[in-house]
Amino acid sequence: MTCAICNSNEGEIIWTDNTLRVVLLDHPDYKGYCRVELINHQKEMTDLDESLQFNIMRCVFKVEEILRKIFNPDKINLASLGNKTPHIHWHIIPRFKEDPHFPNSHWGEKLREGLHQAISETEKNELIKLLNQSLN
Ligand SMILES: [Zn+2]
Repeated sequence: MTCAICNSNEGEIIWTDNTLRVVLLDHPDYKGYCRVELINHQKEMTDLDESLQFNIMRCVFKVEEILRKIFNPDKINLASLGNKTPHIHWHIIPRFKEDPHFPNSHWGEKLREGLHQAISETEKNELIKLLNQSLN
């Protein structure tokens, strides 16, 4: 079976350990959009032992905290669906009132063009630095 997460060529791995990775998606409408992925194939959070459940949520919340600090979004959206692939991953999406879908889900109906602001090198370096400081 091909896995959309394992075979994704979206974005860049900006932090990893032996169980998790943080991928920065190169999304022009949603700068700072990250995905926290479990490296192994597991389908549900409740398939994991408690320490791994804790570690994945800690990672998700650290990413959220750092994205808030760097981008000061109007809202953070967290989502874990995985209906198309049995591979746990969390979306962490900084949302702005000016973004193309706000207040809809970013997978919902598009309401405007948005600002098309790619992440800057400075912002990306700051994100990687803070991830390493808080997760290592
Ligand atoms: Zn996979």
